[in-house]
Amino acid sequence: MGGPASLMLTMGGVGRVIIAHGGDMISPDLNRQVLGSESVLGKPRARDFGAYLRTMNQFVEVEAIDHEPDDAEAAELALRCDIILSCPPTFEERLRLNHAACQAGIPFIDAAQWGMTGTLIVVKPGETACLKCLYPDPPPFEEFFPVVGAISAATGSLAALEAIKILSGTGEPMWGKMLTYDGYRGQAASVLLQRRADCECCSSL
Ligand SMILES: [Zn+2]
Repeated sequence: MGGPASLMLTMGGVGRVIIAHGGDMISPDLNRQVLGSESVLGKPRARDFGAYLRTMNQFVEVEAIDHEPDDAEAAELALRCDIILSCPPTFEERLRLNHAACQAGIPFIDAAQWGMTGTLIVVKPGETACLKCLYPDPPPFEEFFPVVGAISAATGSLAALEAIKILSGTGEPMWGKMLTYDGYRGQAASVLLQRRADCECCSSL
């Protein structure tokens, strides 16, 4: 999802895009990774993805970080950003980025997927529920789970759309809502999330 999201932001002409992704390109990525191809297999992903994004829009500055940020680096990066899009697979990484955005006081968009289902959450720290309000205790994580590339592209693109709305002041961002698209049945649903009064992440904001 980070691939299509960063591609849409770059093509859309935001000023600067910072991507962070560790590891090498592997063959299981190929069903969904729009920034990569078979020619990148076995090579560090972020470096090549950054190079590809730079070919798409000369007016956008692209910075590529070749590892997953830890707590300290995520906090540091958040201070250099206007908005964070969270697209990693694990709850640990998603909650880390949520925490960094809340502490920096910047909008946070979390995109997630399983099979043919995609979800999107848009957070305004201190005003709406955050990801930690929704998942105070991270659910069990499946290391290997099914992903259909079409749902990755759709969900990542919707995350970019929310970012473009927030950055440009156009339309109505989905503040505090969770959008779920059930691709198995072709049904979409949106619910307003409630803040948790004792949220470890955002209750003091
Ligand atoms: Zn919270």
